[in-house]
Amino acid sequence: MADTGARPLVLLDVDGPLNPYAAKPEKRPAGYTTHWVKPASWVASNPHGRPRPAAYTRPLRLWLNPDHGSWLRSLGGDLVWASTWMHEANEFIGPRIGLPHLPVIEWRRMDRFDPDGLHWKTREILDWVGDGRSFVWIDDEITDADRAWVAGNHAGPALLHRVHPAIGLTREDIDAVAAWVSAAFGGRASAAAAG
Ligand SMILES: [Mg+2]
Repeated sequence: MADTGARPLVLLDVDGPLNPYAAKPEKRPAGYTTHWVKPASWVASNPHGRPRPAAYTRPLRLWLNPDHGSWLRSLGGDLVWASTWMHEANEFIGPRIGLPHLPVIEWRRMDRFDPDGLHWKTREILDWVGDGRSFVWIDDEITDADRAWVAGNHAGPALLHRVHPAIGLTREDIDAVAAWVSAAFGGRASAAAAG
Protein backbone atom coordinates (compact mmCIF):
# COMPACT_ATOMS: atom_id res chain seq x y z
CA MET A 1 0.00 0.00 0.00
CA ALA A 2 1.05 3.59 -0.46
CA ASP A 3 3.18 5.21 2.17
CA THR A 4 1.10 7.95 3.79
CA GLY A 5 3.90 9.41 5.85
CA ALA A 6 4.87 9.10 9.47
CA ARG A 7 1.53 8.14 10.92
CA PRO A 8 1.43 4.56 12.11
CA LEU A 9 -1.37 2.24 11.12
CA VAL A 10 -3.56 1.16 14.04
CA LEU A 11 -5.10 -2.23 13.29
CA LEU A 12 -8.21 -2.99 15.31
CA ASP A 13 -9.68 -6.30 16.33
CA VAL A 14 -13.35 -6.14 17.45
CA ASP A 15 -14.22 -9.16 19.60
CA GLY A 16 -12.11 -8.89 22.73
CA PRO A 17 -10.78 -5.32 22.59
CA LEU A 18 -13.97 -3.46 21.62
CA ASN A 19 -16.55 -6.12 22.53
CA PRO A 20 -15.33 -7.86 25.72
CA TYR A 21 -17.23 -11.03 24.93
CA ALA A 22 -15.45 -13.10 27.59
CA ALA A 23 -16.82 -11.13 30.53
CA LYS A 24 -19.37 -12.98 32.63
CA PRO A 25 -22.82 -12.69 31.00
CA GLU A 26 -24.36 -11.13 34.10
CA LYS A 27 -21.45 -8.72 34.58
CA ARG A 28 -21.29 -6.21 31.78
CA PRO A 29 -18.06 -4.23 32.22
CA ALA A 30 -18.46 -0.64 33.41
CA GLY A 31 -18.79 1.94 30.66
CA TYR A 32 -20.32 -0.41 28.10
CA THR A 33 -23.78 -0.45 26.60
CA THR A 34 -25.56 -3.49 25.18
CA HIS A 35 -26.54 -3.77 21.53
CA TRP A 36 -28.38 -6.65 19.84
CA VAL A 37 -27.46 -7.01 16.18
CA LYS A 38 -27.90 -9.40 13.27
CA PRO A 39 -25.01 -8.99 10.84
CA ALA A 40 -25.46 -10.96 7.62
CA SER A 41 -22.38 -13.05 8.44
CA TRP A 42 -23.93 -13.98 11.80
CA VAL A 43 -27.20 -15.03 10.19
CA ALA A 44 -25.22 -17.06 7.65
CA SER A 45 -23.22 -18.81 10.38
CA ASN A 46 -26.17 -21.00 11.39
CA PRO A 47 -24.58 -23.94 13.24
CA HIS A 48 -27.18 -26.28 11.77
CA GLY A 49 -25.73 -25.65 8.34
CA ARG A 50 -28.93 -24.63 6.59
CA PRO A 51 -29.86 -21.12 5.51
CA ARG A 52 -32.64 -19.63 7.59
CA PRO A 53 -34.46 -16.29 7.55
CA ALA A 54 -32.90 -13.52 9.61
CA ALA A 55 -36.17 -13.28 11.55
CA TYR A 56 -35.50 -16.74 13.02
CA THR A 57 -31.90 -16.01 13.98
CA ARG A 58 -31.15 -14.99 17.56
CA PRO A 59 -29.43 -11.63 17.61
CA LEU A 60 -25.80 -11.35 18.64
CA ARG A 61 -25.08 -9.49 21.86
CA LEU A 62 -22.49 -6.73 21.58
CA TRP A 63 -21.06 -4.76 24.46
CA LEU A 64 -19.58 -1.50 23.19
CA ASN A 65 -17.99 1.44 24.96
CA PRO A 66 -18.88 4.82 23.43
CA ASP A 67 -15.56 6.26 24.68
CA HIS A 68 -13.53 3.92 22.51
CA GLY A 69 -13.89 5.94 19.31
CA SER A 70 -12.46 9.14 20.73
CA TRP A 71 -9.73 7.26 22.58
CA LEU A 72 -8.64 5.50 19.39
CA ARG A 73 -8.82 8.65 17.28
CA SER A 74 -6.60 10.41 19.83
CA LEU A 75 -3.73 8.03 19.01
CA GLY A 76 -2.91 9.96 15.85
CA GLY A 77 -2.63 6.88 13.65
CA ASP A 78 -4.55 5.61 10.64
CA LEU A 79 -7.21 3.26 12.01
CA VAL A 80 -7.98 0.05 10.12
CA TRP A 81 -10.37 -2.82 10.85
CA ALA A 82 -8.45 -6.06 11.36
CA SER A 83 -11.35 -8.24 12.45
CA THR A 84 -13.46 -11.15 11.26
CA TRP A 85 -16.23 -8.54 11.15
CA MET A 86 -14.46 -7.10 8.10
CA HIS A 87 -16.79 -4.60 6.32
CA GLU A 88 -19.59 -5.22 8.81
CA ALA A 89 -17.44 -3.43 11.42
CA ASN A 90 -18.12 -0.21 9.51
CA GLU A 91 -21.85 -0.88 9.74
CA PHE A 92 -22.28 -2.31 13.25
CA ILE A 93 -19.28 -1.20 15.33
CA GLY A 94 -17.83 2.11 14.13
CA PRO A 95 -21.02 4.21 14.20
CA ARG A 96 -21.86 2.99 17.72
CA ILE A 97 -18.52 4.08 19.21
CA GLY A 98 -17.82 7.22 17.24
CA LEU A 99 -15.49 6.00 14.52
CA PRO A 100 -15.72 7.05 10.88
CA HIS A 101 -15.81 4.60 7.98
CA LEU A 102 -12.41 2.84 8.08
CA PRO A 103 -10.36 0.73 5.66
CA VAL A 104 -10.79 -3.02 6.12
CA ILE A 105 -8.31 -5.86 5.90
CA GLU A 106 -10.06 -8.49 3.77
CA TRP A 107 -8.66 -11.79 4.99
CA ARG A 108 -7.76 -14.35 2.38
CA ARG A 109 -8.17 -17.16 4.91
CA MET A 110 -9.45 -17.32 8.46
CA ASP A 111 -7.73 -20.56 9.43
CA ARG A 112 -6.85 -21.56 12.94
CA PHE A 113 -3.67 -23.48 12.08
CA ASP A 114 -0.25 -21.96 11.44
CA PRO A 115 2.88 -24.12 11.07
CA ASP A 116 4.86 -21.76 13.32
CA GLY A 117 2.14 -21.29 15.89
CA LEU A 118 1.32 -17.77 14.77
CA HIS A 119 -2.11 -16.23 14.90
CA TRP A 120 -3.91 -16.75 11.59
CA LYS A 121 -3.94 -12.96 11.06
CA THR A 122 -0.24 -12.34 11.58
CA ARG A 123 1.21 -13.16 8.14
CA GLU A 124 -1.65 -11.44 6.31
CA ILE A 125 -1.23 -8.35 8.45
CA LEU A 126 2.42 -8.06 7.47
CA ASP A 127 1.50 -8.53 3.81
CA TRP A 128 -1.19 -5.87 4.08
CA VAL A 129 0.94 -3.36 5.97
CA GLY A 130 3.77 -3.67 3.47
CA ASP A 131 7.46 -3.03 3.74
CA GLY A 132 8.56 -1.05 6.72
CA ARG A 133 5.34 0.82 7.48
CA SER A 134 4.95 1.27 11.21
CA PHE A 135 1.89 -0.24 12.83
CA VAL A 136 0.11 -1.03 16.06
CA TRP A 137 -2.04 -4.17 16.22
CA ILE A 138 -4.61 -4.34 19.03
CA ASP A 139 -6.06 -7.82 19.57
CA ASP A 140 -6.94 -10.22 22.40
CA GLU A 141 -5.22 -13.25 20.81
CA ILE A 142 -1.67 -11.99 20.26
CA THR A 143 1.08 -14.19 21.68
CA ASP A 144 4.84 -13.93 22.11
CA ALA A 145 5.22 -16.09 18.98
CA ASP A 146 3.51 -13.36 16.95
CA ARG A 147 5.67 -10.67 18.53
CA ALA A 148 8.88 -12.57 17.83
CA TRP A 149 7.90 -13.30 14.24
CA VAL A 150 6.94 -9.70 13.51
CA ALA A 151 10.18 -8.48 15.09
CA GLY A 152 12.14 -10.76 12.76
CA ASN A 153 10.11 -10.17 9.61
CA HIS A 154 9.03 -6.53 9.59
CA ALA A 155 11.49 -3.71 8.97
CA GLY A 156 9.47 -0.92 10.57
CA PRO A 157 8.43 -0.28 14.16
CA ALA A 158 5.55 -2.49 15.31
CA LEU A 159 3.63 -2.81 18.55
CA LEU A 160 1.48 -5.88 19.13
CA HIS A 161 -0.74 -4.90 22.04
CA ARG A 162 -2.83 -7.60 23.69
CA VAL A 163 -6.12 -6.71 25.38
CA HIS A 164 -7.93 -9.01 27.79
CA PRO A 165 -11.21 -10.22 26.21
CA ALA A 166 -13.08 -10.16 29.55
CA ILE A 167 -12.09 -6.54 30.20
CA GLY A 168 -11.86 -4.86 26.80
CA LEU A 169 -9.79 -1.87 25.79
CA THR A 170 -9.04 0.30 28.82
CA ARG A 171 -7.70 3.79 29.28
CA GLU A 172 -4.44 2.13 30.40
CA ASP A 173 -4.23 0.25 27.10
CA ILE A 174 -4.68 3.48 25.17
CA ASP A 175 -2.06 5.25 27.30
CA ALA A 176 0.41 2.42 26.69
CA VAL A 177 -0.16 2.54 22.93
CA ALA A 178 0.04 6.34 22.92
CA ALA A 179 3.35 6.20 24.79
CA TRP A 180 4.74 3.80 22.18
CA VAL A 181 3.54 5.99 19.31
CA SER A 182 5.04 9.03 20.97
CA ALA A 183 8.38 7.29 21.56
CA ALA A 184 8.49 5.99 17.99
CA PHE A 185 7.41 9.17 16.25
CA GLY A 186 7.95 12.05 18.64
CA GLY A 187 5.28 14.70 18.13
CA ARG A 188 4.80 13.98 14.44
CA ALA A 189 1.87 11.58 14.66
CA SER A 190 -0.20 13.72 17.00
CA ALA A 191 0.69 16.88 15.08
CA ALA A 192 -0.53 15.24 11.87
CA ALA A 193 -3.73 14.14 13.62
CA ALA A 194 -4.39 17.67 14.81
CA GLY A 195 -3.77 19.08 11.35
MG1 LIG B 1 -10.53 -10.99 19.07
